[in-house]
Amino acid sequence: MVNSQKIHPLMIRVITCTLCLTHDCTLRCRYCYAGRKYSHAMTRETAQRAIDIVFDEARATGSSADISFFGGEPLMEWELLQWCYDYAQSRAGELIAPPRFGLTTNGTLLTAEKLNWLAERDFLIGISIDGSPAMHNTNRRRPDGTGSHADVAQALQLIEQHPRVRSQAICVVTPNNVQHLSEGLEWLSSHYSGTIGLNIDYWSEWSDEDFDTLTSQYALVTEQVARSYRTGQPILLRNIDDKIATHLHESDDDCVHCRIGEREIAVSVDGNFFPCSRLVGDGDKEELNFGNVTDGINRARQQYIIATRGCSTPACKLCSLRNRCTNSCGCTNYASSGKLNEVSAFLCCSEKLFINTADQLAEQLYEEKNPAFMKRFYDFS
Ligand code: SF4
Ligand code: SF4
Repeated sequence: MVNSQKIHPLMIRVITCTLCLTHDCTLRCRYCYAGRKYSHAMTRETAQRAIDIVFDEARATGSSADISFFGGEPLMEWELLQWCYDYAQSRAGELIAPPRFGLTTNGTLLTAEKLNWLAERDFLIGISIDGSPAMHNTNRRRPDGTGSHADVAQALQLIEQHPRVRSQAICVVTPNNVQHLSEGLEWLSSHYSGTIGLNIDYWSEWSDEDFDTLTSQYALVTEQVARSYRTGQPILLRNIDDKIATHLHESDDDCVHCRIGEREIAVSVDGNFFPCSRLVGDGDKEELNFGNVTDGINRARQQYIIATRGCSTPACKLCSLRNRCTNSCGCTNYASSGKLNEVSAFLCCSEKLFINTADQLAEQLYEEKNPAFMKRFYDFS
């Protein structure tokens, strides 16, 4: 048995298992990549077998394991989720470090009682909310076609007011809502003080005009972030933070971000294994499948996925931004180009935009010796 007391937590390798608990959802978002919506939930046996396989894999590779819940809307299977938590905890002593838990939710079924349960167990909650009512309601709609912003805003308020819950807000940016991006961030940052992540919808087609809108909106967003540092209360925008971090800790490693196939196992409702939760869909893409709860991990398919992930085009190999760019992420590549190892032209342009913008902002704030910026990125005490 390995003594976890002697290993720094950052040194522990982790396998993340994402369980897609149901195909059903309370919403019908226009950009949803989670497959068809119908009443079909994971069985307890499938969940148990998936957790067993991931824990066995973690033990065999000297890793720990995180369990994350996804859907559809996972809170529709609240009892199953609680059961999975208890079952994983019953095997926790076999791992090198305690498992951690997470949940991605649209917030519509979140109650104070559920939030307390999740907070007491230190879940990381990712709540999907696309900013302001105008931005959110463009895509995130109820089955009757009406916008869901009011429901989700209530859940966000519960999270914001909770004394100890760990959370992040996920805001999806698409060609048809990008014109609201800066107003969307304004709304989010005035209602929520946690980390906000802008998830660019790489599954969609982005025209040149859409990219121009993204560029001008992102400039406004960056000005907002700069202002927030100057008032001493920085907006925690993951996109900018991540790019600054890649500058400060630049690495020559290829594929510094992507763990798909190797340390990411997403399990479909029917128990099939996929390299990332974003790639599960209806659970029927054979080229991305690498095993199931009955036969275990298909090693040949797993090795193929690991060998294929990350962009290997000559342009990326020679690019000075390659270690700061998301080209290493197989699932982002797949969303943008249909291949794990190719980026679309839009992904390349948007990454250059995000890196250059973050660098300009960081330079300004560094020159000003902005106290909030210096504390956030240079205070190692
Ligand atoms: S809330 Fe999530 S799973 Fe449900 S429709 Fe929207 S994107 Fe899809
Ligand atoms: S910026 Fe473009 S060329 Fe450079 S590494 Fe990223 S995707 Fe490849």
